[in-house]
Formats: sequence, structure tokens, C-alpha cells
Amino acid sequence: MPRQATSNRDGADLVECFSSIQGEGILVGLRQVFLRFAGCNLNCTFCDTPGTAYIPKECLLEQTPGRRDFITVPNPVSCERVVSLIESWTAGWPGIHHSISVTGGEPLLHGAHLSVWLPRLRELLPIHLETNGTLPEALEPLIPHLDYIGMDIKLPSASGCPELWDEHEAFLKIAARTGVFVKVVVDQGTENWEVERSCAMIAAVDRAIPLILQPMTLADGGIPLSPLRMLEFQELAAGLKEVRVIPQTHKFMGQL
Ligand code: SF4
Repeated sequence: MPRQATSNRDGADLVECFSSIQGEGILVGLRQVFLRFAGCNLNCTFCDTPGTAYIPKECLLEQTPGRRDFITVPNPVSCERVVSLIESWTAGWPGIHHSISVTGGEPLLHGAHLSVWLPRLRELLPIHLETNGTLPEALEPLIPHLDYIGMDIKLPSASGCPELWDEHEAFLKIAARTGVFVKVVVDQGTENWEVERSCAMIAAVDRAIPLILQPMTLADGGIPLSPLRMLEFQELAAGLKEVRVIPQTHKFMGQL
């Protein structure tokens, strides 16, 4: 069932803000500030993000980057509070962060807030949007404020979502105006045609757009997908210029 964020004009509903190592996608391994917005319009079977099943009354704000000394503050949270926190990090620990990962849930549910927040946050660090790639109308006005976009293509087999090909295609055409990469979660139930259709969609926009094939990664870091299937899926994507197989590395590194 769709889940909606409830935000008011003065602030947005957040789950948390903290500093950690990016565990997936093209920016894997880089230190980022994670700004996690509440709520999502999808309901993936593998969703492992605390707080996306509901809109929390409070959010967690880390006080010292990477030290997990969280405090709770009531939602909604103002832009000024978040900017002030991250500003204290960029001033006190200059150079440790590569960028801000604006994530969720689905952050584009908060498009009206992002149009105000992103220009201010981008004065501090580059912006990386992590999105399920289904809300093209919300993306369009934000493109000038984004440095990187990691968008999902949700395969029905792995995600349990209905087919979203039209939404993903419309989204990718807009996202291609900035630094976009596509992430596709695959598992043992993924069928070849799903990977082939994803690749055809990417190639029709620009075959240089990087594709990350992300084997489903369990909470303990285990990867149920067989090594052979990983190789087969990568071979199916041979028409694209850059195809990487990267699991969710933060899970076996013990990072948030
Ligand atoms: S799109 Fe992401 S946040 Fe939303 S339900 Fe799926 S995995 Fe969870």
C-alpha cells in the first residue's frame, strides 16, 4: 500500500541525518552525509530502511559525524536546523565528506521542500539524490540543484512492485541531464528479460549511463545470488558501456 509523507510548509519529516560510508552504487566507499527523508510511494519486499513503513514523530540527528551520538528531535524538521548541523560538520571536519546523500524512503515525495533545501545544502557539499526513479514530475524542477542521481529500476521479480517501466523511462530521460547512474537489484528469481529490458531502456537514452547490478544483500552481508547468475546478468548488459556488479557493502562493513 502506498505510504505518504506528511510535511508542512515550515519543515520536512525526516528519519535521520548521519555521516557514514556510501555502501552501494557508483559512489561506493565515499564518505557522505546521509539525509534520510520519511515516507515512500512504493512497498518493496526487500526494503530494509527503518522508518519507511511509517512517518516517525521524531527523527535522529547525529551530533558528531560518524560517532553515532544521536539526539531525537520532533518532526517536521526545519531546513535551518539541518543546514546548521551539516555546516558545523563541514567547518569542524573539513574535507571528510564527499557529498550529501539525499535519500529515503523516497525523497522526491518532498519535492516542494527540496526546491528550497537543495540550493542551501549545495553551498556546503555536492548533492547526490538516491531515488526509486518513479516520480519524474517531481525530479524535473530539481535538476539544476543535483550533482549525482542514483535511480533504481525496480524489477517486479526482486522488488515485488508492479511493472514501472513507463515511470522509469520518463524519469531517466530527465535524469540524464545530470550525472545519473542506474541501480538494478537482482536476485535468484530475476528473469533475463527484466535485465535486458532495463538495458534497452538505458541504451535508448544513452548507453554511457553506468548500470550497477546490485545482488540482493542480506542483513548479515550474505548474497544468495549465485556467482554464475551474477556473471550471466552482467553479460546480458554488454550493450552498455559501463556495467558494475556491486552488493550493498555497508552491510558487511558494519556501517549504517
Ligand atoms: S523504494 Fe526504497 S524506500 Fe521505498 S519501499 Fe522500495 S526499497 Fe523501501
